[in-house]
Amino acid sequence: MSDAQHHTDVVIVGAGPVGLFAVFEAGMLGMRCHVVDVLDAPGGQCYALYPEKPIYDIPGTPRIDAAGLIDKLAEQIAPFKPVYHLGQQVATLAPRQAGGWRVGTTGGVTIDCRAVIVAAGVGAFGPHRPPLDGLAAFEGTSVFYMVRRREDFRDKRVVIGGGGDSAVDWALSLAEVAASVAVVHRRDKFRGAPEMVARLKRLAEAGTVELVVPYQLAALEGADGQLSAVVVRDLAGTERRLDADVLLPFYGLAMELGPIADWGLALDNKQIAIDPATSQTNVPGVFAIGDIVSYPGKLKLILTGFSEAAVAAHAIHPLVFPDQELHWEYSTTKGVAGFDDGGEGPAG
Ligand SMILES: Cc1cc2nc3c(=O)[nH]c(=O)nc-3n(C[C@H](O)[C@H](O)[C@H](O)COP(=O)(O)OP(=O)(O)OC[C@H]3O[C@@H](n4cnc5c(N)ncnc54)[C@H](O)[C@@H]3O)c2cc1C
Repeated sequence: MSDAQHHTDVVIVGAGPVGLFAVFEAGMLGMRCHVVDVLDAPGGQCYALYPEKPIYDIPGTPRIDAAGLIDKLAEQIAPFKPVYHLGQQVATLAPRQAGGWRVGTTGGVTIDCRAVIVAAGVGAFGPHRPPLDGLAAFEGTSVFYMVRRREDFRDKRVVIGGGGDSAVDWALSLAEVAASVAVVHRRDKFRGAPEMVARLKRLAEAGTVELVVPYQLAALEGADGQLSAVVVRDLAGTERRLDADVLLPFYGLAMELGPIADWGLALDNKQIAIDPATSQTNVPGVFAIGDIVSYPGKLKLILTGFSEAAVAAHAIHPLVFPDQELHWEYSTTKGVAGFDDGGEGPAG
């Protein structure tokens, strides 16, 4: 959306799976939502980090690709007509004199609302970049920090940097489509899941994947954003030159709360402390759900976040509708307008 001033009931900071489901829970109670995300598409970690990986622990859904889950959530919340503000970060949160909050984004949008739900996951996440001269010139064309579609790497000479889950898993997956895969790691021990590491070693023995250990990335060669080789170096200073079209540095995520750290919310080791009975933070009217929250027994799972979203929506209802008593109703009783169940659907 363009620069503008908006009014709504609830602003959701973060369009990850948990933020999206909060639209549903709020919508079922008749509350309208605006959703802001710094990424250019909804989906959070599912979209940005592992879109093609299957998830097995969504109740009632034995297996679904992460991107497929996001598509289903988008479909599920569409009847509630959430307003998205994508590609912009929520930068400011200020109390309004009239009550409620004013949310400001880096895109120049301000949204007045009764309550805020912070569903910001691991915060403003970005990759740990390897310290290589000229790296920026290759980013987005030959250097990628995440794989959205493995088909993009078909017949490419791929160099992967790192020794964790992402490096191991993507080496296994891309070995099926790439022209070549080399994994550069500073140790000969990989930190991925043991079964995956064993599979990687078997591929290396068969010559399908090359394990370049113990080496570190040293330099990039290429022109006009197109990589031609990655130079690696071991501790003794010995260099090797690996022909490459693509470099995938998988050195984990830098997790920063970003502006959220300045909103006066009580934090617990870079996470937002909430009361799990309401999902409310120490600041009345500001709620938090999903991976960003901390409370005793918190599990960083999508299903836990879904539950926190339901709890938050019920706690927010009296802030949005102070004169209305909340009557408990199941979705089976209430229905959702826009679905062919004949239910009455959400109010508002
Ligand atoms: C490889 C991998 C596999 C996983 N597998 C599973 C699994 O099998 N089952 C499971 O339950 N969980 C799994 N998870 C964890 C799961 O993805 C997270 O629990 C889930 O994504 C948390 O959802 P969320 O909505 O809380 O946060 P996120 O998905 O992190 O989304 C938060 C969003 O907030 C945005 N944001 C942050 N700060 C701001 C700001 N200031 N302004 C605007 N936007 C902001 C971010 O851009 C992001 O899009 C896996 C995670 C990974 C990395």
